[in-house]
Amino acid sequence: MAIIDSIPRRARVLVVGGGAREHAIAWKLAQSRHQPVLYAARGNPGMAALCRLVAIDAGDVAALVAFAEREGIDLVVVGPEQPLANGLADELQRREIRVFGPTRAAAQLETSKAFAKDLMQRAGVPTASYAVFTDVEEARQYVRRQGAPIVVKADGLAAGKGVTVARTVAEAIAAVDDAMLGGRFGSAGRRVVVEAYLSGREASLMFFVDGQTVVPMLPARDHKPVGDGDTGPNTGGMGAFAPIQSFLDAGLTAMVEASIVRPTLTALQAQGITYRGVLYVGLMLTDEGPSVIEFNARFGDPETEVVLPLMRSDLLEVLWATAAGRLEEVVMDWAGDAAVCVVLAAQNYPGTPRVGDVITFPAAGSSASAEGTFIFHAGTKRQGDAVVTAGGRVLTVLGTGETFDVARRRAYELAERIHFPGMQMRRDIGRHRD
Ligand code: AMP
Repeated sequence: MAIIDSIPRRARVLVVGGGAREHAIAWKLAQSRHQPVLYAARGNPGMAALCRLVAIDAGDVAALVAFAEREGIDLVVVGPEQPLANGLADELQRREIRVFGPTRAAAQLETSKAFAKDLMQRAGVPTASYAVFTDVEEARQYVRRQGAPIVVKADGLAAGKGVTVARTVAEAIAAVDDAMLGGRFGSAGRRVVVEAYLSGREASLMFFVDGQTVVPMLPARDHKPVGDGDTGPNTGGMGAFAPIQSFLDAGLTAMVEASIVRPTLTALQAQGITYRGVLYVGLMLTDEGPSVIEFNARFGDPETEVVLPLMRSDLLEVLWATAAGRLEEVVMDWAGDAAVCVVLAAQNYPGTPRVGDVITFPAAGSSASAEGTFIFHAGTKRQGDAVVTAGGRVLTVLGTGETFDVARRRAYELAERIHFPGMQMRRDIGRHRD
């Protein structure tokens, strides 16, 4: 039997997480011809229109597994990294519940930068030269020896904020001290990776990986610094666009698959680790070719909000087949359109965000809107009849269209009609795309 014929009608699918990425996943799943019944833990007010919301934290493995068993969930789709780090995929597999997302061991590609760097080095995957430190004085000395610019990274998970691209030695040493002594990233920062600065254009390329078969998605670019023109501190991401045209033309996708993804999967396999889920490759396109900045073990946020809207294939079929190790049976198809998304962030983000403010939406409502647009929720909360801000990244506003100009205009026109006190957004998402 073909794998997609094994998808039950009205399959019960649990999406774990509650950010704009998970909203985009649920939105795309809701378009599946198999008409799945969707659940989200915990989801968000935007997802409530598509899913039954379940009051379980994304990191609570025991409660999620118990819920999936009790409700007869057919597929669990894991959005964020924390549940993967906590072993959610391992526990579900043990109970023979189908899961989209890698095991704890495989997710180390994201959860430990030292693990990822060591593996890349062994596998001959191009990445910046580096050293790993648990001793603060040794880290400082290394920074002084290497000079600036140089990059300091907390080893563990830090919500996209554990990286400092230091322009001076003093700035790098401050970042080392902050992570290792100041406890800024908790235990994630006790070990740091210090690596060479790479210059070039950035690109994000995500792959569906079923253990064997590797299928690329469209390349995207996110915009990490909080301010226009890439100024200010790094965030989880302030907006994104897809596809990156130059990338497609140059056949870079095939090159990244051959020189980065395949050797990485082979090196994992040599340790007895099978990778299943999304492998996100953060790249710097240097003069010497693509070099890995980071791996993530799940869909990127905000890249997912521009990549999934361009996917023509049935997402449920893709996730189902990936989870079953039979991805080769699914044909991947993409629209030729452009997509741009803009993150609306709370005041003071990426510092401690101001929360609890009422959000005013356009008359069309809090998610559906004009043609070629959509509002994905992230840090929002329902309070009586209102939706209020409840996190750093509040909403992600999507625009799609036949050209980037149309996609950009649609995203920004809609973003301008959304209001809450202290709202921040970048004005230059997708403006420079070469
Ligand atoms: P990461 O969380 O590892 O993706 O790093 C966050 C951001 O820091 C990246 O998107 C890059 O803009 C920047 N970055 C990370 N590593 C390097 C590097 N080796 N050279 C230059 N920039 C980097």
